[in-house]
Amino acid sequence: MFCYILRLRYFAVGVFTTLPHQQNLLGLLKYEIESLLLSLNEPLFRAQQVYEAIYRHGLSNFANITTISKKLRSTLDEHFLIDYPKIDQVQQASDGVRKYRFVAMDGQAFESVYIPEVVKVGRVTNTLCISSQTGCSLECKFCFTASLKHYRNLSVAEIIGQVFAVSHDLAANCTTKKPIENTRVTNVVFMGMGEPLLNYDNVLAAVKLLIDADGMNFSNRRVTVSTAGIVPRIYDLGRAVQTQFAISLNATTDEVRSQIMPINKKWPLNELIAALRAYPLSPRRRLTVEYVMLGGVNDSLADAHRLINLLSFIPVKINLLPLNAHPRTSLHPPSMEQVLKFQKVLRDASMNTIIRSARGQDIAAACGQLGENDPK
Ligand code: SAH
Repeated sequence: MFCYILRLRYFAVGVFTTLPHQQNLLGLLKYEIESLLLSLNEPLFRAQQVYEAIYRHGLSNFANITTISKKLRSTLDEHFLIDYPKIDQVQQASDGVRKYRFVAMDGQAFESVYIPEVVKVGRVTNTLCISSQTGCSLECKFCFTASLKHYRNLSVAEIIGQVFAVSHDLAANCTTKKPIENTRVTNVVFMGMGEPLLNYDNVLAAVKLLIDADGMNFSNRRVTVSTAGIVPRIYDLGRAVQTQFAISLNATTDEVRSQIMPINKKWPLNELIAALRAYPLSPRRRLTVEYVMLGGVNDSLADAHRLINLLSFIPVKINLLPLNAHPRTSLHPPSMEQVLKFQKVLRDASMNTIIRSARGQDIAAACGQLGENDPK
């Protein structure tokens, strides 16, 4: 019965990569794998071994799970598979950023961006920016992805499968002497295509798998969920899981925010700011505030002062993102001089503020550019 429900669930989310008689184990939480193995009369500790093999060790073939008997390996092989989304295209930018395009069986495409960065000598941060939907319904005026019309939610397997597929690709293509440090994904951010909190259940399951110590074992400080402001879901997320949280604020008045982010008409600034104030943060943690800077729209020094007032008494770090241009917007970034003046006002008010330099621009891999290579 349980199997049957899970199969229905898989059909419901439109994952056609698995045949009904071979169900994908990738994307299932521990209790779901336990139920499946119990239905095969296997004890609970076997489920733990299978779970760890898939998530902790990144195995994609039952034959390689040597902690279980050969008989069980072949039984699992008969009923299940561990199926990552298929990489359709890889592009490498001049600054080392790699953009991956995945195409699902239904023809829908989604992208991930791998951003290696030397933080200080000998310390690297390799961030993978992953997608939660194949396009986006929010129609933010500065974002290319928002102009893609055909979209759907990604399944849990498609979301976390991006991390596995990219990790395997990096390991296979590594040419450096220190393969582990230079190819291991260290941070995951939900800042690719889509609005994570409109695919709440699957994103939450993916986050749980990412930060589970027996699972993918990322520190919860290294997994960031970013939202345009789906207010009720911000409360839900804060209650459900502890993770790094980012809000794409992008304006300081309802008038401007509603123009550039129509979602603001549904949940205006006062409701959004109330949700940020209520967000449960452990000591010394901060919310990330993303602020896309648009020349002549939200970049005045009056905006900077309003931003300080809006965020007063909320522990935040602010990322200023000068607009990344793309063919479907008439908006433009401010001059660097204006960005620096804006930053100075915030810093003078003791707000932790950095200007985020765009990475991967030459292959349209920067924030707000994803989907430009959509095969459709
Ligand atoms: N929907 C989610 C995640 C995807 S967008 C969100 O809104 O947070 C990820 C980040 O890219 C957001 O902070 C968004 O404001 C920013 N962004 C979108 N388009 C951009 C562009 N053209 N230039 C710079 N940043 C952009």
